[in-house]
Amino acid sequence: MGEKDRLKKVLFFKDPNRISDALQGFGIDDYSGKQTLIKLHMGEVKNKYFSKPEFVKLVVDVLLRKSAKPFLYDTTVLYNSRRRYVEGYGKVADMHGFKDENIGCGVIIDDEGIPVVVEGNTYFVGNKLYEVKHIVGISHFKGHIASGMGATIKNFGMGGVTRESKKFMHHGCKPIFNEENCCYCGVCSEVCPFEAIEVKDESWNIKEDACFGCGVCIENCKYDAISYVRNDLSYFLACSTKACVEKKKVIYINDVNRIARNCDCDPDSGPIICPDIGYFMSDDPVAVDAASLDSINKVKPDVFQDINKVDPYKQIRYGEKIGLGSSSYELINL
Ligand code: SF4
Ligand code: SF4
Repeated sequence: MGEKDRLKKVLFFKDPNRISDALQGFGIDDYSGKQTLIKLHMGEVKNKYFSKPEFVKLVVDVLLRKSAKPFLYDTTVLYNSRRRYVEGYGKVADMHGFKDENIGCGVIIDDEGIPVVVEGNTYFVGNKLYEVKHIVGISHFKGHIASGMGATIKNFGMGGVTRESKKFMHHGCKPIFNEENCCYCGVCSEVCPFEAIEVKDESWNIKEDACFGCGVCIENCKYDAISYVRNDLSYFLACSTKACVEKKKVIYINDVNRIARNCDCDPDSGPIICPDIGYFMSDDPVAVDAASLDSINKVKPDVFQDINKVDPYKQIRYGEKIGLGSSSYELINL
């Protein structure tokens, strides 16, 4: 196979109203008459930067014109949040404008899944995601404390599977305590959503079983007294994405705007760290993340590596290694 054959097509456009032309470039006509799952992160309460209903509606409008049967989709989360439960997540989705009267289609939130084995590990893919064969992924691009950045691979790898699998993937990411720097202020204990840390007088203890590796304590310690062991969350994300999308027709869209330091799971996802860039689309999940990240690096070199101290290309390299997709792409301006 020549170099040209390995290049995956990635479309770039700035104007969201070009979405119809872009989708046409990836065979949207095949979605006609098909139940179509739109994988989204509908935003933590108080988060400002998740992909907006106005943009999602543009995608839904195209699908409806093609006589597809779209619905918005996500799974429940691991941490303490209204989004931990199907009903609570439904209310948050509604509050953020993801409802039939605004968008033109309904919302399904899953919290049970079907086991799929990839590279020797089992991932429980959300029931509806497992069942449906036609998918559009809309992923907001931002930083992430444990994987450097999050976009398509994160949206599917973490967001497409059940809490049990989310816990499995986070399990290797645990805080390490550095006694020399600690002033025993207790902030880490107060902010931990899982009550895993106890600070008393001059002692600091963690309940390993209670810790889900969310990283909130690390973000909030001003004294660099806690750091991370990252047991290749990026690898698990790539494998889990493969479990979610293999043998399906998927069009991936990255919304590379409102690029914040932290994830949409965070009520306060921190400052914007890069100016808006636009939208990237591909039928290859690795290529779309690679093209988006390369574009950010041209404007703000190594911004995610510098802020989150994790190589954001890791998930892309792992994705390529396990056959999820290709990091070689041809970028076409629409
Ligand atoms: S927030 Fe940092 S300095 Fe304060 S108790 Fe926790 S580890 Fe120690
Ligand atoms: S990473 Fe820190 S904040 Fe998160 S669960 Fe573990 S101890 Fe708590």
